[in-house]
Amino acid sequence: MPLVSMRQLLDEAAKGGYGVGAFNVNDMEQIQAIMMAAKETKSPVIVQASRGARQFAEDLYLFRLIQAAAELNPEIPIAMHQDHGNSFETCKSAIELGYTSVMMDGSLKEDGKTPSTFEENVEVTRKVVEFAHERGVTVEGEIGVLGGVEDGHGAGGSGLEHITDPDQAVEFAERTGVDALAIAIGTSHGAYKFTKKPDGSVLKMDVLIAIHKRLPQTHLVMHGSSSVPKDLQDIVNQYGGKLKQTWGVPVEEIQLGIRNGVRKINVDTDNRLAITGAIRKAFAETPEKFDPRDYLKPAREAMKKVVALRMTQFGQAGHAGDYKPMAITEIAKGYANGSLDTRPSMAAAR
Ligand SMILES: [Zn+2]
Repeated sequence: MPLVSMRQLLDEAAKGGYGVGAFNVNDMEQIQAIMMAAKETKSPVIVQASRGARQFAEDLYLFRLIQAAAELNPEIPIAMHQDHGNSFETCKSAIELGYTSVMMDGSLKEDGKTPSTFEENVEVTRKVVEFAHERGVTVEGEIGVLGGVEDGHGAGGSGLEHITDPDQAVEFAERTGVDALAIAIGTSHGAYKFTKKPDGSVLKMDVLIAIHKRLPQTHLVMHGSSSVPKDLQDIVNQYGGKLKQTWGVPVEEIQLGIRNGVRKINVDTDNRLAITGAIRKAFAETPEKFDPRDYLKPAREAMKKVVALRMTQFGQAGHAGDYKPMAITEIAKGYANGSLDTRPSMAAAR
């Protein structure tokens, strides 16, 4: 099956009342781990690559691997997404490669570090939406600034410094026409999100609920949403790692988000921990071995387990066969005739 529009995946998730995990990839083993999990749980899935991943793997290697995944798993709807595009050019190059979705993160300037102004964000995001929708490609925007840094991208800080303002979120959706919106509710990228189990003082689920009430037709996205479970941290540390104890976003909070408009949940750190733990364990237990397959195979298996568990927890499991993927050209027609227009004024007029 060709790669599927992320918009269609998220529209179907909204109808079914579930969320879809978006898992980051850099290499073949991670792509295989995700596909093994999707197959086992019969899940539609979003695979995403950051700018760092596209650089590490080289565009063509990574994209051909995704195409292979789609060809080998025709029963699984797969959307391929650019994570944290920093400019129009980055998004354009992903679309030209064949990605079916892009994130234009205009919350930061092109350096991927400095917070931008609201007007700058609107301007660059609207430009990407125009280019993408003409080609049937989905766009995720971001309003508010997430905490932490990942792959060199991020403003740093705690995640509480630039919480999304619901009024601005509505204005942003109206002026850009994005399909999906990443909001800042206190989460951060990377492993060190919270210094204790997060409560309402650091994780602003009330802001998320308020935004969904006012923007019911825009799919919300939770970034930095690894749960960073203690058992994965423990395996890394048991075999020589030196992680400081840390807390991620509890799965119950993500599930509360899913009941309130969250359709895409980004997970990267948990998979990184699973892979690293498995490799450390293999090195420690069988130091005489030196065939990379001896540690890459358990690493792939460990990531598959985490992904399959998240797919079940987010509710996407069992939904792969619910719908027939539409051609990207059909999606483009939907944008052109207004039937896929998510701007609040347009949705109200329908
Ligand atoms: Zn992110």
